[in-house]
Amino acid sequence: MAKVSIGLRGWRFEESEVFTDDEEFKPLDEVPDDARRRLIRLSYLVGKPCDACYLVHGEAEKRRCNQAAIVYGEPMEEVLLCDDHEADFLYWYREAGGSEFRGREEFRDEFHEWFAAGGRAPDGYGGLEHVETDPSELPSPPDPDELNARLNENYGGKRKRIDLKAGTVTHDEPGGEAKDGDDAASEIDDSDIDFDREYPTK
Ligand SMILES: [Zn+2]
Repeated sequence: MAKVSIGLRGWRFEESEVFTDDEEFKPLDEVPDDARRRLIRLSYLVGKPCDACYLVHGEAEKRRCNQAAIVYGEPMEEVLLCDDHEADFLYWYREAGGSEFRGREEFRDEFHEWFAAGGRAPDGYGGLEHVETDPSELPSPPDPDELNARLNENYGGKRKRIDLKAGTVTHDEPGGEAKDGDDAASEIDDSDIDFDREYPTK
């Protein structure tokens, strides 16, 4: 079984779980939960700047950041890195206690704190075991609009919606939106505020 990265190096997908035999993306319903979450999340992450560059340059100098080439960690807690900063991350993970945060929600914040406090890999720190791959040679994640369109293809009734940031798929319940609308507001007005209430005068 072949593993493949999509869009960014780092996360690996079982090829047969995400691609059809014709090398098209499978309908999301047929993709296992974990792979689906990563796939959706990737379509949001591709094109974002490297976290370490961003910590160096800040929002005002965002254009100086390298675009991320690598993603490590779990969806929502992931760290994005460029080739220049991958060694710093690997050093943190392997030698500076980073691995203890594996799978925990502090993962990204801990790396950011270490890096922002001046944490860096020593010069010449190696240990990059992967084969260098140019991300532009990796298959691109599906386009978000296309993901949405595909998700609702051949589907009557409940619409499904993709939360790109969370990497999840939610179902819109028929009529569900009305509850959040004016009706709910007027219900609260009517029931919770009693204008005729008499207050004790003592
Ligand atoms: Zn960088």
